[in-house]
Amino acid sequence: MEIACLDLEGVLIPEIWIDFAERTGIEELKATTRDIPDYDVLMQQRLRLLHDNGLGLPDIQDVIADMSPMEGAREFLDWLRERFQVVILSDTFYEFAAPLMKQLGWPTLLCHRLETDSQGKVVDYKIRQVNPKRQAVLALKTLYYRIIAAGDSYNDTTMLAEADAGILFKAPSNVIEEFPQFPAVHDYQALKQEFIKASDRNLTL
Ligand SMILES: [Mg+2]
Repeated sequence: MEIACLDLEGVLIPEIWIDFAERTGIEELKATTRDIPDYDVLMQQRLRLLHDNGLGLPDIQDVIADMSPMEGAREFLDWLRERFQVVILSDTFYEFAAPLMKQLGWPTLLCHRLETDSQGKVVDYKIRQVNPKRQAVLALKTLYYRIIAAGDSYNDTTMLAEADAGILFKAPSNVIEEFPQFPAVHDYQALKQEFIKASDRNLTL
């Protein structure tokens, strides 16, 4: 049996922090794991910027409520779920992802959690575990599943390496160059083909 592990932001939905930065005009909030590979450094910067600008979880959730999955994402995900058990492995937070997960039909999501105070101010974040995407793949492999994983960024590469097959989707050129061992595709049609190729079953489009 095979499981498909998918990254969320940059694969099925836009980067939440970038959209939020554009709507609030706080340029520094545009940084992602593509720019700062160390996730804790990145998150500490984000929390500090939110605090400095007096922004809390309700402000962020107002932005997210207006966002949609990427064009074609729901169709792709439905296609994938007909052929694989799908688990989404993300470095986002349940508090952010919910409105978008609803639009995607509530697929299984493993991600992190935010802590807020009574005023809605984001005071801390709780990472599910260290190296969560790779650990999830490792755990599923102990159940004797074959894993095919797809992601777009640095924080996906250990997941892709641990999987039986890894695929880069809409990755920036520096990631593609640094990880030439993974096939790199840029649209959902090509991503479907890569999943078919990586599967040990005779799947069709
Ligand atoms: Mg991503």
